[in-house]
Amino acid sequence: MTGDTNPFESLQSQIDDAAGYLDVGEGVIERLKHPERVLETTLTVELDDGSLAQFTAFRSQFNGDRGPYKGGIRYHPNVSRDEVKALSGWMVYKCAVVGIPYGGGKGGIVIDPDEYSAGELERLTRTFATELRPMIGVDKDIPAPDVNTGQREMNWIKDSYETLENTTEPGVITGKNIASGGSEGRVEATGRSTAIAAREAFSYLDMDLEGATVAVQGYGNAGWNAAKLIAEMGATVVAASDSSGAIYDPDGFDPVAAKDHKNETGELVGFAGATAELTNDELLTLDVDLLIPAALENAIDGELAEDVEATVISEAANGPLTPDADAVLEERDVFVVPDILANAGGVTVSYFEWVQNRQRFYWTEQKVNEELEAIIVDAFDALVETMDEHDLNSARTAAYVVAVQRVADAYEEAGSFP
Ligand code: NAD
Repeated sequence: MTGDTNPFESLQSQIDDAAGYLDVGEGVIERLKHPERVLETTLTVELDDGSLAQFTAFRSQFNGDRGPYKGGIRYHPNVSRDEVKALSGWMVYKCAVVGIPYGGGKGGIVIDPDEYSAGELERLTRTFATELRPMIGVDKDIPAPDVNTGQREMNWIKDSYETLENTTEPGVITGKNIASGGSEGRVEATGRSTAIAAREAFSYLDMDLEGATVAVQGYGNAGWNAAKLIAEMGATVVAASDSSGAIYDPDGFDPVAAKDHKNETGELVGFAGATAELTNDELLTLDVDLLIPAALENAIDGELAEDVEATVISEAANGPLTPDADAVLEERDVFVVPDILANAGGVTVSYFEWVQNRQRFYWTEQKVNEELEAIIVDAFDALVETMDEHDLNSARTAAYVVAVQRVADAYEEAGSFP
């Protein structure tokens, strides 16, 4: 993984790439390249041994022209101000490209959660919720899970908010468990849209998904669900990785059994159903039909991109390709379904969760999946139409053309205040 590309600069260059195809003033484009506000705070938490520890935390509210800010909260040692700003911007354009009525936000705490007990993480999460309380709200800013956070953390944030506000408002946060007002289908949603987007790309390129080979980098919520669902669609998962390393079998393996092994042992490596182990770079450059990066940003840089053998990439992670990698892959005709569309299932089902919370009326899993399918297929169709209209070879640039225009239209129609 390359660490030297600043993700915020990547976001800005993606917007610049789209700007030339847009009917939007320069000042408006510049506005859409910067967050509206960023909270930086130091959280003090009592550890189990009675000592106090400090953690740096952020929340970036990038743009609210199309609706309340929306985006996840990440717990990771590499969280930084610029990473959070980039992730919040990607949320803006993700919501716009799939046409759901949200702006974009993102938050994070600089921490390796593996080093802390559940009690310490609960106190930390509730302290962060207390800091966030004035800026979040069902019509203001709605957080969600991201790397190393899940239903447990979302439930704590909801409970802290409701306690402090003396109200019942489950829609203040999404990604909750069902008992706390979560939605059916939310846990699988990011992997599901990644798989649907890949299936649409295969169909667009006249490629057969049945028997197609797939490598998945990152086997957490997004990656493992994408692996399971793409296998259900007929493809063969031949490689997968997590932070312990990569497993490989040219004849394919059962992604569910690999996940069971990871649940039991804490890592993928050692899974008896695969024949070989690979390095992370070897996985990314395998000769496969489909590559799904589902770990973190900057997984593939320009140099590594020269060796990528996949025909299609469906980005479950946010920002897994650097702009240099994008340029190389575009030149080499690798079809990249961009993160803002491929992984938009997560925020789309978060939107369904919010709608259900506000109506106090809950949908079946079948309805959730059908509505998600329709949104991702429509967004993919709009993307390829835009590629054809502007004779673009980059699906990412096409996605930004659609998305930035929608945000700019909302801004320009509203006018500015004061
Ligand atoms: P997660 O914490 O559940 O999983 C992350 C996985 O990546 C883990 O298996 C970890 O071992 C692996 N990993 C970390 N570094 C690695 C490396 N160098 N090589 C290989 N594997 C590595 O997180 P997640 O929620 O699945 O998020 C993964 C990506 O998907 C992130 O970019 C996130 O922003 C994006 N995403 C997630 C959601 C969601 O709903 N969870 C929605 C949209 C986008």
